[in-house]
Amino acid sequence: MAHQWFKQFYSLIAETALSDWLDVLPAQISAWEKQQLHGDYAKWQKLLSKLPNTDVTSVELKSDVKIGRADDIDEYTKRQITGLLKQFKPWRKGPFYIHDIFIDTEWRSDWKWDRVLPHIESLKDRTVLDIGCGSGYHMWRMLGEQAKFVVGIDPTQLFLMQFQVIKHFNPNPNIHLLPIGVEQLPELKAFDTVFSMGVLYHRRSPIDFLQQLKQQLRPGGQLVLETLVIEGDEHSVLMAGERYAQMRNVWFLPSTKALTVWLERVGFKDVKVVDVGPTSLQEQRKTDWMDSQSLADFLDPEDQSKTIEGYPAPIRAVLTATT
Ligand code: SAH
Repeated sequence: MAHQWFKQFYSLIAETALSDWLDVLPAQISAWEKQQLHGDYAKWQKLLSKLPNTDVTSVELKSDVKIGRADDIDEYTKRQITGLLKQFKPWRKGPFYIHDIFIDTEWRSDWKWDRVLPHIESLKDRTVLDIGCGSGYHMWRMLGEQAKFVVGIDPTQLFLMQFQVIKHFNPNPNIHLLPIGVEQLPELKAFDTVFSMGVLYHRRSPIDFLQQLKQQLRPGGQLVLETLVIEGDEHSVLMAGERYAQMRNVWFLPSTKALTVWLERVGFKDVKVVDVGPTSLQEQRKTDWMDSQSLADFLDPEDQSKTIEGYPAPIRAVLTATT
């Protein structure tokens, strides 16, 4: 039986432009839930149910994700929550503040948001999809920009659980994470804005992926795409070997010019490269909330302009386009 989280989502979209999704989504989610039975799903559910219900006297989403104040809870509850939050490690995307408990994530995802936000159409009253949303950090920031309804998809179980941890403290009905992959989306043509950040280079068929993004947008909707790129002209694309910066599942890193051609070929209009820059060792690093290796370990110790495999070190670009 589908978890309450998803049932609530189904009934919320039944009367909206997203209602066609109900033709396929419930079956996909129940197939997903069946697969989880043998893993850690039950353990996570149990941990989630231990989170105390606290009095949340303030929610800040515009400048940071800060849910609750320190003095809403006593010292015992603070320790109890901190202990439970730590069980959901590794925390990769954030940071989050829960009653002022600082979840210092591997990534400063807020820096990415600062690079993206000045260049996109206002999210006010928009229905938004975030493809490959991770634990949902940017989705909270989208709500902070007054988006009407924010949906994220990400197939990684732990990220759904981390999202539900945060949502426990701020049970806003306008934000949802579904554990499915982009390839499972039907052609919805219903979102005002579609984000996909940090996903394209994980896709084996990037052109199909761009087409899948386009199929989710209503006519005139905006795509916000963020990905790893290389320097070069419209003919330059790096296809990584078995690993890129230690990641196994990296396929294509185009130049921004090549990526612009790709977007135009699948029919996007008004393609703009709005930000390009290297990923710094301050933006992605090891913290108390993420114990394994991070960017510093993935670069050539003698030459930080290269990955340990000898590829150009990570440069990321933000592009916008419309349908
Ligand atoms: N958007 C976030 C997270 C990027 S990390 C950010 O920019 O910080 C890439 C994410 O893509 C991971 O969370 C991973 O679980 C997700 N992902 C992997 N395969 C996917 C698929 N087939 N469809 C959608 N998301 C996928």
